[in-house]
Amino acid sequence: MIARPFGPTGASVPVIGQGTWNVPTRGAAADAAKAALRAGIERGMVHIDTAEMYGDGAAEELVGAAIAGLPRESLFIVSKVLPSNATAHGTIAACERSLRRMGLDYLDCYLLHWRGTVPLRETMHALERLVADGKIRALGVSNFDVDDLKEAHAVLEREPIACNQVLYHLNERTIEDHEIPYAREHDIATVAYTPFGRGAYERAAGYPALVEIAQRRGVTPAQIVLAFLTREPDTFAIPKAASIAHTDENAAAGDLQLEPAEIDAIDRAFPAGRRRGGLPSL
Ligand code: NAP
Repeated sequence: MIARPFGPTGASVPVIGQGTWNVPTRGAAADAAKAALRAGIERGMVHIDTAEMYGDGAAEELVGAAIAGLPRESLFIVSKVLPSNATAHGTIAACERSLRRMGLDYLDCYLLHWRGTVPLRETMHALERLVADGKIRALGVSNFDVDDLKEAHAVLEREPIACNQVLYHLNERTIEDHEIPYAREHDIATVAYTPFGRGAYERAAGYPALVEIAQRRGVTPAQIVLAFLTREPDTFAIPKAASIAHTDENAAAGDLQLEPAEIDAIDRAFPAGRRRGGLPSL
């Protein structure tokens, strides 16, 4: 699996990780999802993305069960604080709850899930306090546009922004003209969430071009999607999969490097377009 520096953290992180939003958290489906996560880790997808929001903490508990017994240093665990909890004290308390649910001493990166009404300065300073206390190794943000990133930079006193986790898929590429250039200039990792865009690429006019490339390479269109989104040296993707078949496929995409001609063909089939309005999010 191709790995690359995760922003300024010093960590080398595989390009494909694993999401946990809407992961089943009860019964046999939860057991299957846990097995899929564990299989994904064994195949190199050690970057696990979760959040206190997902299943009201149940997704974090599932992650805790999936990683139990694995060497901590081999994992890259990311969680997120809800904006409504992101006060000076609330951020610390939320992080401690997340750590408890996952049975961890520290998170590799902890993000503000999206901007709410708590002043950014308060949240960023709480995240810096968590780094100083050793509860998180790095801090990051999610759903931040360029102005938000600039504001975060202005209020942070000691720590860099490790990543910006944003909506990025073949039908939503406008971050390529906005947030990605800013992130590149400031050594911030860009993490693509919802990389399959709820299957929109399969219904798009450009789909046959994707199928053609996939067939030529002997892989699936989903794998080509992941390879395209992680084609640049500072982007990562965190698909969610609830089955080992999907997990296997996603992990194998982490070894796939597209040729310039293939990238051009996908670029033509799924043009980036111009942004209308603000940063797209789910
Ligand atoms: P996604 O990963 O784009 O799509 C998940 C869907 O794709 C599931 O139905 C899954 O099926 C299917 N799938 C997985 N691998 C596949 C493959 N190889 N071939 C075909 N289908 C495949 O959507 P997402 O869960 O919205 O986004 C991924 C992660 O990003 C989330 O889980 C979450 O961790 C994060 N996220 C963050 C934010 C934020 O605001 N920061 C927002 C949304 C998402 P199965 O489940 O049946 O395997």
